[in-house]
Amino acid sequence: MASNQKSLLRFGLECLADFVFPQLCLICSGEYLADDALVCDRCWSKATGDSHLLCLSCGQPLGDALSCEYCKDSAVIPVAVLGHYQDPLQEIIHQFKYSGYSRLGGSLAKKLIDNHIHTFERLRPNLTVPIPLDSYRLRRRGFNQAAVLSDIVSKRLKIVIAEQLLVKSRKTKDQTRLDFERRAENLKGAFTVTERIAPDAKIILIDDVFTTGATMREGLRAITEAGGKVVMAAAIAVADR
Ligand SMILES: [Zn+2]
Ligand SMILES: [Zn+2]
Repeated sequence: MASNQKSLLRFGLECLADFVFPQLCLICSGEYLADDALVCDRCWSKATGDSHLLCLSCGQPLGDALSCEYCKDSAVIPVAVLGHYQDPLQEIIHQFKYSGYSRLGGSLAKKLIDNHIHTFERLRPNLTVPIPLDSYRLRRRGFNQAAVLSDIVSKRLKIVIAEQLLVKSRKTKDQTRLDFERRAENLKGAFTVTERIAPDAKIILIDDVFTTGATMREGLRAITEAGGKVVMAAAIAVADR
């Protein structure tokens, strides 16, 4: 068979494969995907269209100058988020956390950095610290999604990750069933810093979803008490309280 006939045949077989096994968007099932994408461009732009910065202390959106109108007297630590914890972002996070599509973590982390690049450049974090899961949850899920995201963020920003710096020293109740005050109480003293923190470390704390912020603030407290400095935080989504 002539080579141009062979390539024509291969082209025909590829078209047939695409026809028989079309790659549809994981979220809307309405768009065919190019290459190895899992989610279509339209769903991504809906999911990440509300990227903004929050105040770590009170959870309110921050102004342009990283100022919080509710926490005027204290140093504000911004939390970069991609959007609200609702579909399609919520569904993308679910596919990442519970359905084995770990590849989505890479896309989420990349979009988080791209959408907040000015804040990253301004605050220049040089050490990534993921919010840990306790060992029971880690065994059940098999991976810590915050650590996966932190790993990708640190690679893209070319900064160091300290995956074991913060550990969960005791089991806590499931936060989703607790109100604002009980969440803070539930987490009090739950984290321990296990390593010496370099004096020039500018830490970015990373978690998947920011709800009341109790978990992040407890991580911040443990790090600050150990002499470390947190300059910013990041989460994929912010959930309504
Ligand atoms: Zn889609
Ligand atoms: Zn505030």
